[in-house]
Amino acid sequence: MALIVHKYGGTSMGSTERIRNVAKRVAKWARAGHQMVVVPSAMSGETNRLLGLAKELSPAATTPELQRELDMIASTGEQVSVGLLAIALQAEGMPAVSYTGWQVPIETDSAFTKARIQRIDDQRVRADLAAGRVVIITGFQGVDAGSNITTLGRGGSDTSAVAVAAALKADECLIYTDVDGVYTTDPRIVEQARRLHTISFEEMLEMASLGSKVLQIRSVEFAGKYRVPLRVLSSFTPWDIPIDEEASSGTLITFEEDVKMEQAVVSGIAFNRDEAKISLLGVPDRPGIAFSILGPVAEANIDVDVIIQNVSHDGKTDFSFTVHRNDYARTMDLLKSVVVPKTGAAEVTGDTRICKVSIVGIGMRSHVGVASRMFQALSNEGINIQMITTSEIKTSVVIDEKYMELAVRALHKAFDLDQPAAA
Ligand code: ASP
Ligand code: MG
Repeated sequence: MALIVHKYGGTSMGSTERIRNVAKRVAKWARAGHQMVVVPSAMSGETNRLLGLAKELSPAATTPELQRELDMIASTGEQVSVGLLAIALQAEGMPAVSYTGWQVPIETDSAFTKARIQRIDDQRVRADLAAGRVVIITGFQGVDAGSNITTLGRGGSDTSAVAVAAALKADECLIYTDVDGVYTTDPRIVEQARRLHTISFEEMLEMASLGSKVLQIRSVEFAGKYRVPLRVLSSFTPWDIPIDEEASSGTLITFEEDVKMEQAVVSGIAFNRDEAKISLLGVPDRPGIAFSILGPVAEANIDVDVIIQNVSHDGKTDFSFTVHRNDYARTMDLLKSVVVPKTGAAEVTGDTRICKVSIVGIGMRSHVGVASRMFQALSNEGINIQMITTSEIKTSVVIDEKYMELAVRALHKAFDLDQPAAA
Protein backbone atom coordinates (compact mmCIF):
# COMPACT_ATOMS: atom_id res chain seq x y z
CA MET A 1 0.00 0.00 0.00
CA ALA A 2 1.30 3.41 -0.92
CA LEU A 3 0.24 7.00 -0.40
CA ILE A 4 -0.34 8.47 -3.85
CA VAL A 5 -1.25 11.98 -4.99
CA HIS A 6 -3.04 12.40 -8.31
CA LYS A 7 -3.30 15.78 -10.02
CA TYR A 8 -5.81 16.32 -12.81
CA GLY A 9 -5.61 19.30 -15.16
CA GLY A 10 -8.49 21.40 -16.44
CA THR A 11 -9.02 19.29 -19.56
CA SER A 12 -9.37 16.09 -17.49
CA MET A 13 -11.95 17.92 -15.35
CA GLY A 14 -13.59 19.57 -18.38
CA SER A 15 -17.11 18.08 -18.13
CA THR A 16 -19.18 16.00 -15.72
CA GLU A 17 -18.57 13.04 -18.02
CA ARG A 18 -14.80 13.49 -17.69
CA ILE A 19 -15.08 14.02 -13.94
CA ARG A 20 -16.89 10.68 -13.74
CA ASN A 21 -13.93 9.11 -15.54
CA VAL A 22 -11.49 10.70 -13.09
CA ALA A 23 -13.58 9.30 -10.23
CA LYS A 24 -13.52 5.80 -11.72
CA ARG A 25 -9.76 6.00 -12.18
CA VAL A 26 -9.16 7.22 -8.63
CA ALA A 27 -11.52 4.59 -7.23
CA LYS A 28 -9.54 1.92 -9.11
CA TRP A 29 -6.35 3.06 -7.33
CA ALA A 30 -8.06 3.23 -3.95
CA ARG A 31 -9.52 -0.26 -4.39
CA ALA A 32 -6.03 -1.53 -5.18
CA GLY A 33 -5.21 -0.58 -1.57
CA HIS A 34 -3.59 2.84 -1.98
CA GLN A 35 -4.27 5.88 0.16
CA MET A 36 -5.38 8.50 -2.35
CA VAL A 37 -5.19 12.29 -2.34
CA VAL A 38 -6.45 14.07 -5.45
CA VAL A 39 -5.67 17.67 -6.44
CA PRO A 40 -7.73 18.88 -9.41
CA SER A 41 -7.64 22.10 -11.42
CA ALA A 42 -10.71 24.11 -12.27
CA MET A 43 -12.75 22.86 -15.24
CA SER A 44 -11.00 23.96 -18.44
CA GLY A 45 -11.67 27.57 -19.36
CA GLU A 46 -13.21 28.32 -15.98
CA THR A 47 -10.33 30.33 -14.48
CA ASN A 48 -10.21 32.47 -17.63
CA ARG A 49 -13.95 32.98 -17.49
CA LEU A 50 -13.85 34.06 -13.85
CA LEU A 51 -10.94 36.45 -14.33
CA GLY A 52 -12.68 37.79 -17.44
CA LEU A 53 -15.68 38.81 -15.34
CA ALA A 54 -13.41 40.72 -12.98
CA LYS A 55 -11.75 42.41 -15.93
CA GLU A 56 -15.12 43.66 -17.21
CA LEU A 57 -15.51 45.60 -13.98
CA SER A 58 -11.93 46.74 -13.60
CA PRO A 59 -9.55 46.29 -16.54
CA ALA A 60 -6.28 46.28 -14.61
CA ALA A 61 -5.85 44.83 -11.13
CA THR A 62 -2.88 46.88 -10.07
CA THR A 63 -3.39 47.25 -6.33
CA PRO A 64 -3.09 44.55 -3.66
CA GLU A 65 -6.72 45.29 -2.73
CA LEU A 66 -7.87 44.41 -6.24
CA GLN A 67 -5.56 41.41 -6.44
CA ARG A 68 -7.02 40.08 -3.23
CA GLU A 69 -10.43 40.05 -4.87
CA LEU A 70 -9.08 38.35 -7.99
CA ASP A 71 -7.90 35.49 -5.80
CA MET A 72 -11.28 35.39 -4.10
CA ILE A 73 -12.89 34.96 -7.51
CA ALA A 74 -10.37 32.71 -9.28
CA SER A 75 -10.14 30.23 -6.40
CA THR A 76 -13.82 29.30 -6.81
CA GLY A 77 -13.08 27.36 -10.00
CA GLU A 78 -11.17 24.75 -8.02
CA GLN A 79 -13.78 24.74 -5.27
CA VAL A 80 -16.41 23.62 -7.76
CA SER A 81 -14.07 20.94 -9.13
CA VAL A 82 -13.34 19.30 -5.77
CA GLY A 83 -17.01 19.23 -4.81
CA LEU A 84 -18.01 17.65 -8.11
CA LEU A 85 -15.26 15.06 -7.89
CA ALA A 86 -16.23 14.13 -4.32
CA ILE A 87 -19.83 13.61 -5.45
CA ALA A 88 -18.67 11.51 -8.41
CA LEU A 89 -16.53 9.33 -6.14
CA GLN A 90 -19.33 8.84 -3.64
CA ALA A 91 -21.59 7.90 -6.55
CA GLU A 92 -19.01 5.20 -7.36
CA GLY A 93 -19.39 3.90 -3.84
CA MET A 94 -16.05 5.34 -2.76
CA PRO A 95 -16.00 7.44 0.45
CA ALA A 96 -14.51 10.84 -0.37
CA VAL A 97 -14.29 14.31 1.11
CA SER A 98 -13.26 17.62 -0.45
CA TYR A 99 -11.35 20.53 1.09
CA THR A 100 -10.44 24.02 -0.01
CA GLY A 101 -6.93 25.34 0.62
CA TRP A 102 -8.04 27.22 3.72
CA GLN A 103 -9.74 24.19 5.21
CA VAL A 104 -6.61 22.01 5.09
CA PRO A 105 -5.03 24.61 5.64
CA ILE A 106 -2.41 25.29 2.98
CA GLU A 107 -0.68 28.37 4.38
CA THR A 108 0.91 30.83 1.97
CA ASP A 109 2.43 34.28 2.04
CA SER A 110 0.25 37.25 1.11
CA ALA A 111 1.47 37.81 -2.45
CA PHE A 112 -1.97 37.73 -4.05
CA THR A 113 -2.13 36.11 -7.52
CA LYS A 114 1.37 34.63 -7.05
CA ALA A 115 1.50 33.40 -3.47
CA ARG A 116 4.05 30.91 -2.22
CA ILE A 117 3.20 27.95 -0.04
CA GLN A 118 4.80 28.11 3.41
CA ARG A 119 3.28 25.27 5.37
CA ILE A 120 0.70 22.55 5.00
CA ASP A 121 -1.06 21.04 7.99
CA ASP A 122 -1.48 17.35 7.26
CA GLN A 123 -3.51 16.29 10.32
CA ARG A 124 -7.00 16.51 8.93
CA VAL A 125 -5.98 14.82 5.68
CA ARG A 126 -4.22 11.99 7.50
CA ALA A 127 -7.24 11.34 9.67
CA ASP A 128 -9.46 11.02 6.60
CA LEU A 129 -6.99 8.74 4.86
CA ALA A 130 -6.81 6.55 7.95
CA ALA A 131 -10.61 6.36 7.91
CA GLY A 132 -10.48 5.06 4.33
CA ARG A 133 -11.60 8.22 2.56
CA VAL A 134 -10.22 9.63 -0.65
CA VAL A 135 -9.20 13.23 0.10
CA ILE A 136 -9.71 15.83 -2.62
CA ILE A 137 -7.92 19.15 -2.18
CA THR A 138 -8.29 22.24 -4.34
CA GLY A 139 -5.31 23.06 -6.51
CA PHE A 140 -4.05 26.61 -7.03
CA GLN A 141 -5.18 28.13 -3.73
CA GLY A 142 -4.14 28.69 -0.15
CA VAL A 143 -4.72 31.01 2.76
CA ASP A 144 -2.48 33.71 4.23
CA ALA A 145 -1.84 34.59 7.88
CA GLY A 146 -4.75 37.06 7.77
CA SER A 147 -7.20 34.34 6.57
CA ASN A 148 -7.33 35.81 3.07
CA ILE A 149 -7.66 33.40 0.17
CA THR A 150 -4.60 33.44 -2.07
CA THR A 151 -3.75 31.80 -5.40
CA LEU A 152 -0.39 30.46 -6.56
CA GLY A 153 -0.21 31.88 -10.09
CA ARG A 154 -1.58 30.45 -13.32
CA GLY A 155 -0.92 26.76 -13.66
CA GLY A 156 -0.41 26.61 -9.89
CA SER A 157 -2.31 23.38 -9.30
CA ASP A 158 0.80 21.44 -10.28
CA THR A 159 2.62 23.12 -7.40
CA SER A 160 -0.28 22.47 -5.02
CA ALA A 161 -0.17 18.77 -5.85
CA VAL A 162 3.59 18.52 -5.34
CA ALA A 163 3.42 20.50 -2.09
CA VAL A 164 0.67 18.25 -0.75
CA ALA A 165 2.70 15.20 -1.79
CA ALA A 166 5.78 16.62 -0.03
CA ALA A 167 3.84 17.40 3.16
CA LEU A 168 2.36 13.89 3.26
CA LYS A 169 5.64 12.27 2.18
CA ALA A 170 3.71 10.59 -0.61
CA ASP A 171 5.35 7.76 -2.50
CA GLU A 172 4.66 9.40 -5.85
CA CYS A 173 2.82 12.37 -7.33
CA LEU A 174 1.14 11.60 -10.64
CA ILE A 175 0.28 14.53 -12.88
CA TYR A 176 -2.46 13.53 -15.34
CA THR A 177 -2.48 15.85 -18.29
CA ASP A 178 -3.24 16.12 -22.00
CA VAL A 179 0.25 15.11 -23.11
CA ASP A 180 1.54 11.62 -22.40
CA GLY A 181 4.93 12.64 -21.05
CA VAL A 182 8.10 14.64 -21.59
CA TYR A 183 9.66 14.35 -25.03
CA THR A 184 13.22 14.59 -26.32
CA THR A 185 12.04 17.72 -28.10
CA ASP A 186 8.81 19.21 -29.44
CA PRO A 187 7.22 16.50 -31.67
CA ARG A 188 5.72 19.26 -33.80
CA ILE A 189 9.23 20.12 -34.93
CA VAL A 190 10.87 16.72 -34.96
CA GLU A 191 8.63 13.86 -35.96
CA GLN A 192 11.02 11.31 -34.45
CA ALA A 193 10.89 12.93 -30.99
CA ARG A 194 10.28 10.27 -28.39
CA ARG A 195 8.89 10.13 -24.92
CA LEU A 196 11.49 9.85 -22.16
CA HIS A 197 10.83 7.14 -19.58
CA THR A 198 12.77 9.06 -16.95
CA ILE A 199 14.37 12.47 -16.61
CA SER A 200 16.12 14.08 -13.64
CA PHE A 201 14.67 17.11 -11.84
CA GLU A 202 17.61 19.19 -12.98
CA GLU A 203 17.19 18.26 -16.61
CA MET A 204 13.47 18.89 -16.40
CA LEU A 205 14.08 22.37 -15.02
CA GLU A 206 16.38 23.14 -17.93
CA MET A 207 13.90 21.72 -20.41
CA ALA A 208 10.93 23.52 -18.87
CA SER A 209 12.60 26.89 -18.59
CA LEU A 210 13.63 26.57 -22.20
CA GLY A 211 10.16 26.00 -23.52
CA SER A 212 8.93 22.44 -22.98
CA LYS A 213 5.84 23.58 -21.17
CA VAL A 214 4.50 20.47 -19.54
CA LEU A 215 4.52 21.48 -15.89
CA GLN A 216 4.55 24.70 -13.94
CA ILE A 217 8.28 25.15 -13.36
CA ARG A 218 7.84 25.90 -9.67
CA SER A 219 6.32 22.49 -9.15
CA VAL A 220 9.47 20.85 -10.50
CA GLU A 221 11.68 23.00 -8.26
CA PHE A 222 9.52 22.02 -5.33
CA ALA A 223 9.60 18.33 -6.21
CA GLY A 224 13.38 18.40 -6.50
CA LYS A 225 13.82 20.25 -3.24
CA TYR A 226 11.51 18.00 -1.24
CA ARG A 227 12.40 14.85 -3.14
CA VAL A 228 8.95 13.98 -4.43
CA PRO A 229 9.06 11.63 -7.43
CA LEU A 230 6.79 13.09 -10.09
CA ARG A 231 5.20 11.31 -13.01
CA VAL A 232 3.61 13.07 -15.98
CA LEU A 233 1.12 10.86 -17.78
CA SER A 234 -1.90 10.99 -20.06
CA SER A 235 -5.38 11.37 -18.70
CA PHE A 236 -6.79 10.12 -22.01
CA THR A 237 -6.06 6.43 -21.48
CA PRO A 238 -9.18 4.38 -20.64
CA TRP A 239 -9.78 4.62 -16.89
CA ASP A 240 -9.81 0.85 -16.53
CA ILE A 241 -6.37 0.02 -17.98
CA PRO A 242 -4.41 -2.27 -15.64
CA ILE A 243 -2.97 -0.27 -12.76
CA ASP A 244 0.59 -1.59 -13.29
CA GLU A 245 0.53 -0.43 -16.89
CA GLU A 246 -0.76 2.98 -15.87
CA ALA A 247 1.74 3.32 -13.03
CA SER A 248 4.68 2.84 -15.38
CA SER A 249 3.42 4.99 -18.26
CA GLY A 250 4.36 8.60 -19.02
CA THR A 251 7.63 10.13 -17.83
CA LEU A 252 9.04 9.80 -14.33
CA ILE A 253 10.85 12.92 -13.13
CA THR A 254 13.14 11.78 -10.40
CA PHE A 255 16.54 11.80 -8.71
CA GLU A 256 19.64 11.72 -10.82
CA GLU A 257 20.78 8.42 -9.33
CA ASP A 258 17.51 6.78 -10.39
CA VAL A 259 17.61 7.98 -13.96
CA LYS A 260 18.66 5.13 -16.16
CA MET A 261 20.72 6.55 -18.96
CA GLU A 262 18.36 6.26 -21.87
CA GLN A 263 21.00 7.40 -24.29
CA ALA A 264 24.64 8.28 -23.96
CA VAL A 265 24.87 11.97 -23.33
CA VAL A 266 22.02 14.28 -24.16
CA SER A 267 18.43 13.80 -22.98
CA GLY A 268 16.72 16.50 -24.97
CA ILE A 269 16.89 19.51 -27.23
CA ALA A 270 15.17 22.62 -25.92
CA PHE A 271 14.56 25.93 -27.64
CA ASN A 272 13.31 29.34 -26.80
CA ARG A 273 12.11 32.12 -29.06
CA ASP A 274 11.41 34.55 -26.25
CA GLU A 275 14.73 36.35 -26.11
CA ALA A 276 16.27 39.32 -27.89
CA LYS A 277 19.93 40.25 -28.26
CA ILE A 278 21.41 43.63 -27.47
CA SER A 279 24.96 44.75 -28.26
CA LEU A 280 27.00 47.73 -27.17
CA LEU A 281 29.74 48.42 -29.67
CA GLY A 282 32.96 50.29 -29.07
CA VAL A 283 32.81 50.31 -25.29
CA PRO A 284 36.00 51.60 -23.61
CA ASP A 285 37.43 48.47 -22.01
CA ARG A 286 38.28 49.11 -18.38
CA PRO A 287 37.59 47.45 -15.04
CA GLY A 288 33.95 47.80 -14.00
CA ILE A 289 32.58 48.00 -17.51
CA ALA A 290 30.30 44.95 -17.21
CA PHE A 291 28.89 46.38 -14.02
CA SER A 292 28.28 49.79 -15.50
CA ILE A 293 26.32 48.18 -18.34
CA LEU A 294 24.39 45.50 -16.47
CA GLY A 295 24.04 47.29 -13.13
CA PRO A 296 21.32 49.66 -14.40
CA VAL A 297 19.64 46.75 -16.21
CA ALA A 298 19.47 44.73 -13.00
CA GLU A 299 18.21 47.74 -11.08
CA ALA A 300 15.35 48.02 -13.56
CA ASN A 301 14.47 44.41 -12.67
CA ILE A 302 15.31 43.09 -16.12
CA ASP A 303 16.65 39.54 -16.26
CA VAL A 304 19.72 39.00 -18.39
CA ASP A 305 20.46 35.56 -19.79
CA VAL A 306 23.38 34.98 -22.18
CA ILE A 307 26.31 37.43 -21.91
CA ILE A 308 29.47 37.78 -23.99
CA GLN A 309 32.28 40.29 -24.05
CA ASN A 310 34.75 40.29 -26.94
CA VAL A 311 38.51 40.71 -26.86
CA SER A 312 39.33 44.38 -26.95
CA HIS A 313 41.15 46.21 -29.71
CA ASP A 314 42.68 49.64 -29.17
CA GLY A 315 41.11 49.79 -25.72
CA LYS A 316 37.56 49.21 -27.05
CA THR A 317 35.38 46.13 -26.83
CA ASP A 318 31.91 44.90 -27.84
CA PHE A 319 29.53 43.64 -25.19
CA SER A 320 26.35 41.62 -25.94
CA PHE A 321 23.63 40.06 -23.86
CA THR A 322 20.09 38.71 -24.19
CA VAL A 323 16.90 39.70 -22.37
CA HIS A 324 13.29 38.56 -22.62
CA ARG A 325 11.62 40.02 -25.71
CA ASN A 326 9.06 41.74 -23.52
CA ASP A 327 11.90 43.69 -21.92
CA TYR A 328 13.63 44.53 -25.18
CA ALA A 329 12.28 48.04 -25.79
CA ARG A 330 12.73 49.01 -22.17
CA THR A 331 16.32 47.77 -22.13
CA MET A 332 17.18 49.58 -25.38
CA ASP A 333 15.79 52.82 -23.95
CA LEU A 334 17.74 52.37 -20.76
CA LEU A 335 21.00 51.73 -22.58
CA LYS A 336 20.57 54.73 -24.86
CA SER A 337 19.57 57.11 -22.10
CA VAL A 338 21.75 55.95 -19.21
CA VAL A 339 24.46 53.48 -20.18
CA VAL A 340 25.79 54.99 -23.40
CA PRO A 341 26.40 58.45 -21.90
CA LYS A 342 27.98 56.87 -18.82
CA THR A 343 30.29 54.42 -20.58
CA GLY A 344 31.06 56.32 -23.76
CA ALA A 345 30.01 53.36 -25.94
CA ALA A 346 29.91 54.14 -29.65
CA GLU A 347 26.67 52.42 -30.59
CA VAL A 348 23.79 50.22 -29.38
CA THR A 349 22.30 47.61 -31.68
CA GLY A 350 19.56 45.07 -31.10
CA ASP A 351 18.09 41.99 -32.73
CA THR A 352 14.77 40.42 -31.78
CA ARG A 353 14.95 37.75 -34.46
CA ILE A 354 17.13 35.34 -32.57
CA CYS A 355 16.46 32.11 -30.75
CA LYS A 356 18.28 29.99 -28.22
CA VAL A 357 18.73 26.27 -28.82
CA SER A 358 20.09 24.04 -26.06
CA ILE A 359 21.21 20.51 -25.55
CA VAL A 360 20.40 19.21 -22.05
CA GLY A 361 21.66 16.10 -20.31
CA ILE A 362 23.19 14.92 -17.07
CA GLY A 363 25.36 12.69 -19.26
CA MET A 364 27.31 15.83 -20.19
CA ARG A 365 28.89 15.81 -16.74
CA SER A 366 30.90 12.72 -17.59
CA HIS A 367 31.52 13.13 -21.31
CA VAL A 368 33.95 15.44 -23.06
CA GLY A 369 33.52 16.86 -26.53
CA VAL A 370 29.75 17.23 -26.27
CA ALA A 371 29.73 20.93 -27.09
CA SER A 372 32.01 20.50 -30.06
CA ARG A 373 29.71 17.81 -31.43
CA MET A 374 26.94 20.37 -31.16
CA PHE A 375 28.93 23.03 -32.98
CA GLN A 376 29.88 20.56 -35.69
CA ALA A 377 26.25 19.59 -36.30
CA LEU A 378 25.29 23.25 -36.64
CA SER A 379 28.22 24.01 -38.89
CA ASN A 380 27.28 21.10 -41.17
CA GLU A 381 23.97 22.89 -41.70
CA GLY A 382 25.69 26.21 -42.34
CA ILE A 383 24.16 27.76 -39.21
CA ASN A 384 26.13 30.63 -37.71
CA ILE A 385 26.44 30.71 -33.91
CA GLN A 386 26.17 34.20 -32.41
CA MET A 387 26.59 33.41 -28.72
CA ILE A 388 27.37 30.36 -26.60
CA THR A 389 26.83 29.54 -22.95
CA THR A 390 27.46 26.35 -21.05
CA SER A 391 26.65 24.90 -17.68
CA GLU A 392 27.31 21.46 -16.27
CA ILE A 393 24.30 19.85 -17.91
CA LYS A 394 23.46 22.26 -20.73
CA THR A 395 25.03 24.00 -23.70
CA SER A 396 23.05 26.75 -25.41
CA VAL A 397 23.67 28.69 -28.58
CA VAL A 398 22.01 31.84 -29.83
CA ILE A 399 21.31 31.72 -33.57
CA ASP A 400 19.16 33.44 -36.18
CA GLU A 401 15.53 32.61 -35.50
CA LYS A 402 14.97 31.45 -39.06
CA TYR A 403 17.26 28.44 -38.51
CA MET A 404 15.61 27.27 -35.32
CA GLU A 405 13.77 24.25 -36.66
CA LEU A 406 16.72 23.18 -38.78
CA ALA A 407 19.03 23.42 -35.77
CA VAL A 408 16.70 21.45 -33.49
CA ARG A 409 16.34 18.70 -36.09
CA ALA A 410 20.09 18.54 -36.74
CA LEU A 411 20.90 18.31 -33.04
CA HIS A 412 18.21 15.74 -32.37
CA LYS A 413 19.86 13.58 -34.99
CA ALA A 414 23.47 14.34 -34.03
CA PHE A 415 22.86 13.15 -30.47
CA ASP A 416 21.13 9.94 -31.58
CA LEU A 417 17.78 10.99 -30.19
CA ASP A 418 16.05 9.92 -33.41
CA GLN A 419 16.78 6.31 -32.43
CA PRO A 420 14.46 4.45 -30.08
CA ALA A 421 15.99 4.23 -26.59
CA ALA A 422 17.89 1.12 -25.68
CA ALA A 423 15.82 -1.04 -23.35
N1 ASP B 1 -7.01 26.87 -12.63
C1 ASP B 1 -5.74 27.53 -12.56
C2 ASP B 1 -5.33 28.07 -13.91
O1 ASP B 1 -6.06 27.93 -14.87
C3 ASP B 1 -4.68 26.68 -11.97
C4 ASP B 1 -4.33 25.45 -12.76
O2 ASP B 1 -5.11 25.00 -13.59
O3 ASP B 1 -3.25 24.88 -12.53
O4 ASP B 1 -4.29 28.66 -14.05
MG1 MG C 1 -1.55 23.09 -16.12
